[in-house]
Amino acid sequence: MSDDTAPEAAPVCSAKGCRAAAVWVLAWNNPKIHTPERRKTWIACEEHREHLSNFLDLRGFLKDVVPLAEWESPGAP
Ligand SMILES: [Zn+2]
Repeated sequence: MSDDTAPEAAPVCSAKGCRAAAVWVLAWNNPKIHTPERRKTWIACEEHREHLSNFLDLRGFLKDVVPLAEWESPGAP
């Protein structure tokens, strides 16, 4: 039962135990520990995008959900 066809360089979903290739970037910020302009990111496969974004949204952390192909890091400061 191996479906591991993704190349090793492919980013893997942040969901616990998931090894699927990520296709979404979830940008979030925890105002208790991060400055407002700070963005943490999780990456998610198609299956876990909703689960992970709901998790962040419930806590008021979710800022943005962007396709991985379109995600451009503005250059870490
Ligand atoms: Zn996943």
